[in-house]
Amino acid sequence: MSVVVRWAPSPTGRIHLGNARPALLNWFFARRHGGRYVLRMDDTDLSRSTREFADGIEQDLAWLGVTPDLLVRQSDRTALYDAARDRLVAAGRLYPCYETEDELDRKRARARLLGKPPIYDRAALSLTDEDRARLKAEGRKPHWRFRLDGRPVQFDDLIKGPQTVNTASMSDPVLIRADGSYLYTLPSVVDDIDLGVTHVIRGEDHVSNTGTQIEIFEALGGPVPTFGHHNLLIDAQGQGFSKRAGSQSIADLRQEGYEPLAVAIAATLTGTSLPVEPYASLDAIAERLDFSMISHGSARFDPAELDGLNARMLHSMPYAEAASRLSAIGMEGEAIWNLFRDNLAKFKDIAEWSAVLHGPIDHEPAPEDIEYLTLARALLPPEPWDETIWATWTNALKAATGRKGKALFLPLRLALTGRHDGPELKSLLVLLGRKACLDRLP
Ligand code: GLU
Repeated sequence: MSVVVRWAPSPTGRIHLGNARPALLNWFFARRHGGRYVLRMDDTDLSRSTREFADGIEQDLAWLGVTPDLLVRQSDRTALYDAARDRLVAAGRLYPCYETEDELDRKRARARLLGKPPIYDRAALSLTDEDRARLKAEGRKPHWRFRLDGRPVQFDDLIKGPQTVNTASMSDPVLIRADGSYLYTLPSVVDDIDLGVTHVIRGEDHVSNTGTQIEIFEALGGPVPTFGHHNLLIDAQGQGFSKRAGSQSIADLRQEGYEPLAVAIAATLTGTSLPVEPYASLDAIAERLDFSMISHGSARFDPAELDGLNARMLHSMPYAEAASRLSAIGMEGEAIWNLFRDNLAKFKDIAEWSAVLHGPIDHEPAPEDIEYLTLARALLPPEPWDETIWATWTNALKAATGRKGKALFLPLRLALTGRHDGPELKSLLVLLGRKACLDRLP
């Protein structure tokens, strides 16, 4: 059986790290098993879904390095859902209900008062044809519920192991709203069947939906896919990521200059037994990540870990990988990359170092250093320069002034780069060349 997975975001906002997790876990699974990856826009909620968000999600996914084999939108597929609806109605599994929200609220309150679980009482199942005709005449529009079997639904979760969801303790779920629109529950199952989805990999907040949906798969004649529910990513405060709570989006992280692979690693390997460390590619992770390595507890994302990972990836990035990005910002040369990469937190920081190389430097020497720096200028050795020049120069300065340590080096670093930090001066000096050094010394 060839593997088909799908990632099914609702385009009601831009995606965040928490959404990137199933997006990528599905991708890893597909890559590991030579399977197909379907991107499905779960856009049945017309009031909240927009094409703009859907397009944004496509871009974010591409930026993360995922290339779906197929894109479908639920909004294009209503005819399929209508056909499934008709079959379920004919089979007596989908029934019209006429209660208003208010009436349902009151029913729930009454159940609670009697110490009963607030489960829908299926009153609509006892309506006669005359009742329904009267309700319709009152102008009421039905919503439609799926009649659950009400039994322990068992499945062997790819990640969590054997699971049981008892649908007897659940209300019959509403599949169609009074305005005729579908909730995601039925379209999801219809599409999974139609698209031949073999594995549904999604967050563990969907476990109870799985109980319901397995009943729907079976009512529609299946086949029932294998399910895998992964732990959810939580933020440093222990909160879930959410589109509405203004969690940082993938687009924000991109804007801030994070490497897509660093974001992908943090989104997926947090909360697994694999270390959050650099990997060569998504495929390298796919090869290593077995779903048994995904922890059963929550996955706490640490922004500092992402920062550290991003920096480490840059520090070990070979020139061949950086070259085209460097030349896009007008920088060339392996020596430059090798010298500066250790100082980068984000790739874009390289531009600051380019400014250090090409000047002008925005630095006024402290008055007490002027004499020292003037001497340094006078003692600057003649070219040609290699990496021994720095020692030659500073030894001469040490002998002439008796300065050592910070007093010897820091005024030179500040005068030459305008910064307290940076790469080794012995290498930087060679790249700067004698003329630039003379220009920067008083
Ligand atoms: N649109 C649903 C969500 O974003 C999809 C869940 C599923 O994968 O079935 O939560």
